[in-house]
Amino acid sequence: MPLESLVKIVTKSTQEAPTLVVFDLDSTIFDVSPRTEEILKSIANDPEFASRHPDQALALKSIVVKSTDWGIKEALSRAKITGTIDFFEEIHKQWSKLFFSNDFLHFDKPYEGVIKYIKYLEKLGARIMYLTGRDSHRMGKGSREVLLMHELPVDDSHHQLILKPQKGMSDSKFKRDIFIDLIKNHDDIWFFENEPANVNLIIKEIPEVQIIFVDSVHSKREEKPDEILSIGMNFNYKEK
Ligand SMILES: [Mg+2]
Repeated sequence: MPLESLVKIVTKSTQEAPTLVVFDLDSTIFDVSPRTEEILKSIANDPEFASRHPDQALALKSIVVKSTDWGIKEALSRAKITGTIDFFEEIHKQWSKLFFSNDFLHFDKPYEGVIKYIKYLEKLGARIMYLTGRDSHRMGKGSREVLLMHELPVDDSHHQLILKPQKGMSDSKFKRDIFIDLIKNHDDIWFFENEPANVNLIIKEIPEVQIIFVDSVHSKREEKPDEILSIGMNFNYKEK
């Protein structure tokens, strides 16, 4: 019952030493599949793309991306979209450009219960932080707007949104370096994260951080540890 345990811990913490609860964004707070689906449909509706790839554009207009998909490959193969390697490279490039931008972030769907859960932790006195591999140049503005749109606590000092200063940095090392700083000023840190590569590095190098693995989707670059607190794609907790 990791969600309930954390509520208990936050309840016992003090104003002087609040529990810090850090959330990753993509596939931790947000189901990004609606973002990908809208992007693929928008590519299909681009007249220039549609004139060059009429059959694929038609199929893309009714594409379905599932919450359990990672990237675009599974959705494209379910829709039986075929084409040359150049075609797939083109669509991946287009998708990637729009996925890592501000333009489609508002389509992300928060996992069930997560907004209520974060607000509850904040009300109990937790310091909330968002730590994402998104970079501030391409995605900072939209990321902040979407947090505010869902009325999540975010400001410049206490409940911060932390993004990568530039694209191309390793997500894992970026997050590790942030935690190295955070442990200097916080005795009790909890981290919700869906990517095993990030989780594994933090466990190895900063064991002080308590991790709750969000078992949603991930890159499959690494395996999650066998023994780890984890939750599925919902944040429904039992209120006492
Ligand atoms: Mg993530």
